[in-house]
Amino acid sequence: MTAVHEVISPTTELVVASVPSISVEETDAAIARAKTAYASWRNTAPGDRARLLRRLAALLEEHSEELAQLEVLNAGHTIGNARWEAGNIANVFNYYSGAPERLLGHQIPVPGGIDITFREPLGVVGVIVPWNFPMPIMGWGVAPALAAGNTVVVKPAELTPLTAIRIGELALEAGFPENVLQILTGRGSVVGERFVTHPDVAKVVFTGSTEVGIHVAEGCARQVKPVTLELGGKSANVIFADSDLATAAASAPGGVFDNSGQDCCARSRILIERKVMDEFLALLEPAVLALRVDDPSLPTTDMGPLISAGHRDRVASFVDENTNVLIRGTAPTGPGYWYPATVVLAESRDDRLLREEIFGPVVTVVPFDDEADAIALANDSEFGLSGSIWTRDVGRALRVARGVESGNLSVNSHSSVRYWTPFGGFKKSGLGRELGPDALEAFTEVKNVFISTEG
Ligand code: NAD
Repeated sequence: MTAVHEVISPTTELVVASVPSISVEETDAAIARAKTAYASWRNTAPGDRARLLRRLAALLEEHSEELAQLEVLNAGHTIGNARWEAGNIANVFNYYSGAPERLLGHQIPVPGGIDITFREPLGVVGVIVPWNFPMPIMGWGVAPALAAGNTVVVKPAELTPLTAIRIGELALEAGFPENVLQILTGRGSVVGERFVTHPDVAKVVFTGSTEVGIHVAEGCARQVKPVTLELGGKSANVIFADSDLATAAASAPGGVFDNSGQDCCARSRILIERKVMDEFLALLEPAVLALRVDDPSLPTTDMGPLISAGHRDRVASFVDENTNVLIRGTAPTGPGYWYPATVVLAESRDDRLLREEIFGPVVTVVPFDDEADAIALANDSEFGLSGSIWTRDVGRALRVARGVESGNLSVNSHSSVRYWTPFGGFKKSGLGRELGPDALEAFTEVKNVFISTEG
């Protein structure tokens, strides 16, 4: 009999669902079904694959409020965020519905014949999803993989499987053949691990912690299996004295505390030019104190709870009586895994508050002296996922953007994820890119065919 796993609301601490926690044998059976489905899915006419993706996008849009409410319940995301997330996965499916009919190869001039390339699907793709953005991150892997002609098995995070399960049902309702997309709930060390070790899973997309990502990459290397890794971050929000300081301060909380700081792109280091540090902090304080930490289902709430008691304990362990806390907001008491928005000052440039991913509502401030120092400080991290640059000087904005070793930078804003553009990390933040027009490359192999015209 399949074991079950209880899903807990981080807002109420109550059990809201029980989902199967499948075994290795059940995972193997699902992979076998996905392999059988692949034979016909890869040969489904591109226009028919496109229509199914478009139909699923429309169904996701139709059900977006239901999906958003489910995420509020399961992950404690604010309703505003959850609506964006449900919209994002619908948009991603809509975007990649244009791909099957545009999966172009090349015709390359060669002597003695014709040379053409094909973009061939890989087979069964395994997508392993973390708990912080269950819907978008699932969509970024699944939509281009299906568009390119692969079948997909998804392993949602143990803590947040509910929207993935519902999206799997909607895919069947949209008309996807059985087993083209399967949602496999269970433990990372069982189901996720099997995606890595099973020879019939042709590719793994892993989003999660750097520690588990390295383990996944090692396993994939043993099989020479391609892998996309989207891992941790410790992104810098670099604020120069010549910027619109009021806007930079007003937006800094959103840049780090969105989703209660449980965001791989969180700007969790504020690098501020020393000469305006006091002025900046004075502007930052009211913006932090104005954040409403409350029941995530209320439209007025800016920040909900953290995902679990264990995670809250981990976040809290970074801030103790020796920490120089500059600003601290409030949070509800009673049930729920609450933690207030917290701004701390780095004791030194080696402070663990500046180096480790906290993945909660804690931001560390550190001053810099000039442009070169800002770039050096921004790059003084093992991560390189995201970041922001605030300045009114266009030349400086471009110099710093080119100088910072990071995959996704925004100038005078905190944007990271746009489904039209590539997303991914430098250094230990990951390998490969998702989203944008090139994501299909990660789900296909190039095949070269030469046809002789001589004889
Ligand atoms: P995690 O690494 O604990 O788990 C991620 C997923 O991997 C889960 O589904 C888990 O069940 C599975 N897993 C666990 N052990 C496994 C194993 N041995 N083999 C295969 N799969 C296994 O991460 P998390 O705590 O769920 O997520 C938080 C982390 O994710 C943070 O570090 C965050 O920065 C990162 N993240 C990165 C991005 C990005 O795009 N770069 C996006 C979101 C989250």
